[in-house]
Amino acid sequence: MTDLQAVLDSIYTELQPRIGEGKVADYIPELAKIDPAQFGLSVVTVDGKVYSVGDAAVPFSIQSISKVFMLTLALGKVGEGLWKRVGREPSGNSFNSIVQLEQEAGIPRNPFINAGAIAVADVVLAGHEPREAIGEVLRFVRYLADDETVTIDDKVAKSETQTGYRNFALANFMRAYKNIDHPVEHVLGVYFHQCALSMTCEQLARAGLFLAARGANPMTGHSVVSPKRARRINALMLTCGHYDGSGDFAYHVGLPGKSGVGGGIFAVAPGIASIAVWSPGLNKVGNSQLGAVALEMLAARTGWSVFGD
Ligand code: GLU
Repeated sequence: MTDLQAVLDSIYTELQPRIGEGKVADYIPELAKIDPAQFGLSVVTVDGKVYSVGDAAVPFSIQSISKVFMLTLALGKVGEGLWKRVGREPSGNSFNSIVQLEQEAGIPRNPFINAGAIAVADVVLAGHEPREAIGEVLRFVRYLADDETVTIDDKVAKSETQTGYRNFALANFMRAYKNIDHPVEHVLGVYFHQCALSMTCEQLARAGLFLAARGANPMTGHSVVSPKRARRINALMLTCGHYDGSGDFAYHVGLPGKSGVGGGIFAVAPGIASIAVWSPGLNKVGNSQLGAVALEMLAARTGWSVFGD
């Protein structure tokens, strides 16, 4: 039996001299203010034990990690019909690329690139005012984390609304192809607020535990999705969760995972544990530099890679 706390402690000690590496995202002005010298890591096992090191109790902007929760919500609403609106293939392009959208008639490659996530937000918005949809997202994530203190950082949402030109372009482009049903400002209102969810590593690992545990959270007993759906969401995270860095993440870490430009990465060791790491400095493809290194160390030391130990 691996002593998980000792593994986490050793990773933290070894990474200490490197904390602050990478470059914080600055295209969202509010994120540019974050101190890069922070690092947190939490692991929650399917038997309900929580292990943490560093800044695991500091809330951060989960950004694109929210796309996993939104995909779960959208699949709950429209089921497999979602796949008429968005594909399931890796894009090989950067997170906010518009190139493929024109070639592929407004159908985004997958739900984890921005265009795909915006289409997913449009699905979650159906039948609601934007405010209600944002409320639903927040309630869902609080339910998953079993924690009413999870919040949305309005300053971050506002900051992104003011500078999210590319996301407006993507949404307008898809609307022209009739793959967005609602006014673009409403859809992006939902999207920017989901991205502005503020969570700690511990809250995030708890919220995603259902994906490690066949669709049900063993800590709360809440059944969230079927085992088949959990498996499929994990498959999408493995193939598409790190944009054009997905292949490299699979190669080095070997776990389904989803990154965000706030410097968080959520990862799943199916049947074993859910993991959240946060370090705001990003690498060249926009994923947490030290977060990815920490997960590589964790997977190597525990033998949790889905490709074998
Ligand atoms: N809110 C960010 C954007 O749309 C999310 C990107 C990310 O976290 O990778 O640009």
